[in-house]
Amino acid sequence: MISKDRICAVVAAADAFGMWRQLAQALRVTRTVELRLDWLSGDAELDRFLARLARQRPRATLIATCRRREAGGKFRGTIAQQLVHLAAAVRSGCAWYDLEIETSSRCPPELLDVLLGEGRRIASAHFFQRSPENLRRVAAELGRGGPEAIKIALRCDSLGRSLDVLRLARGRKDLIAVPMGDVALPARVLALRDGSALAYAPVENSTAPGQVTLDAMKNLYRADQLRRTTRVYGVIGDPIGHSLSPVLQNAGFQARKMDAVFLPFLVRELRDFLLSVGRLGIAGFSVTLPHKQAILRHLDDCDPMAAAIGAVNTVVVRGGGKLYGYNTDYVGVLRALERRIPLRGSRSLIFGAGGAARAVAFALAESGASVCVCARRAKAAKGLARAVGGEVVERPRLQREFFDAIVNATPVGMHPAADRSPLAACELNCRLVFDLIYRPRVTKLMQLAALRGIETVSGVEMFVAQGTAQWEIWTGERAPVEAMRRAVLRALTREAKMSEP
Ligand code: NAP
Repeated sequence: MISKDRICAVVAAADAFGMWRQLAQALRVTRTVELRLDWLSGDAELDRFLARLARQRPRATLIATCRRREAGGKFRGTIAQQLVHLAAAVRSGCAWYDLEIETSSRCPPELLDVLLGEGRRIASAHFFQRSPENLRRVAAELGRGGPEAIKIALRCDSLGRSLDVLRLARGRKDLIAVPMGDVALPARVLALRDGSALAYAPVENSTAPGQVTLDAMKNLYRADQLRRTTRVYGVIGDPIGHSLSPVLQNAGFQARKMDAVFLPFLVRELRDFLLSVGRLGIAGFSVTLPHKQAILRHLDDCDPMAAAIGAVNTVVVRGGGKLYGYNTDYVGVLRALERRIPLRGSRSLIFGAGGAARAVAFALAESGASVCVCARRAKAAKGLARAVGGEVVERPRLQREFFDAIVNATPVGMHPAADRSPLAACELNCRLVFDLIYRPRVTKLMQLAALRGIETVSGVEMFVAQGTAQWEIWTGERAPVEAMRRAVLRALTREAKMSEP
């Protein structure tokens, strides 16, 4: 075992001050830290940093890395200089050093012993482009010369391949498995569950593709607490990086102290993901763009309302890997609206005729509201109106007609084009405006409506409602709605602060 704290913070900065600041941050979360000396801009910064390290000797398992460029790092010096730096780091308090195969294969073992004998070695191999056929052979090669641990980092272009990397760690205590790339992010989080000796997570600067930040690894996914019995859920989509579903769903699991985790899956190929469902032990998943319709073909059964809407956003994996689909966008719309206006007998306008508009239209129609659709493509508006027994309203009529509710189901006004509104103030003749957009929380459309004294509902309401409905389908328990809502609002506030100029 390298360390009891198996989440390894990666500290990487161009100057000694930045390294030290990140190290202090890292130590608040974990006692295992990799120091990327190759990121330092030159010998002077490196000496300054190591001198401070030698003076202060933080109580932590420190791993020194000075990765050369040919192995994917930033160090431009010679192999001799690399070894000298690593030796200095070991003298300054690093119990471990990481040496890539490109260097170790060119050094006689006796030289390593003389220079670095005090330190324990992680022998590492990184594959950023090429993917070796036989990973076990790579592991055997790395093990030659008796390092205390070995590390294999491999860029994966499929989820299936990332699971091959994790499999290497099964039954061993000395192997660090690092699946790299955006598609492999869930495997990175599950690496510790599957036996990897460490999982790396940067404090600030990403040092490899598809990394998860230290904060997310520890606090959002709790990677060091996952076990083989932990139930795994996730959201599939492309893109997926900005999804708030992990924040929402994990907050629910944490509030109820459930042994479960929710991960974001960047899925370009549905087949790759579906083939991995069993291997990963996935118990259920959310579906977002562009797979909400395509997933229907792969289901064993589907809720009748989801089938009528023609889109599934929630899948439960039942015994034998059978997939059952639901649509909770529909539930989300109802939960967000019915508290505010009596829907039966109301007359509502949906602006837009895409996927979300369809869920809104079915929800409203099912509740006894009469549905009007206005969209820039007449054919799409007509198709949706017909599907729910509603009517098409041409745009010029909006200035003259009154509705109980107007629902924006277009992306107009979404971050970063947050200064736009899909409708003008004079087109807002209604009691309530519901904007499906949740970034930003208060949209331009909602501001215009509020100025006219119209009640507004944010897309956050629907997002939380559809997500808590998913959580309840998967767990069979009542969702801790307030805890889940608070987590989403906190994340949105943090994002908004970070995007301030
Ligand atoms: P979608 O399937 O792409 O549909 C978008 C609709 O908006 C289409 O009818 C599109 O018309 C129309 N549109 C796009 N740009 C427009 C413009 N400049 N002017 C007028 N109409 C325009 O997308 P979706 O999945 O329905 O999502 C729509 C919005 O709802 C997004 O902002 C999404 O984030 C939000 N949403 C929120 C939740 C939630 O939980 N709060 C859930 C789902 C979706 P064309 O067909 O002519 O392009």
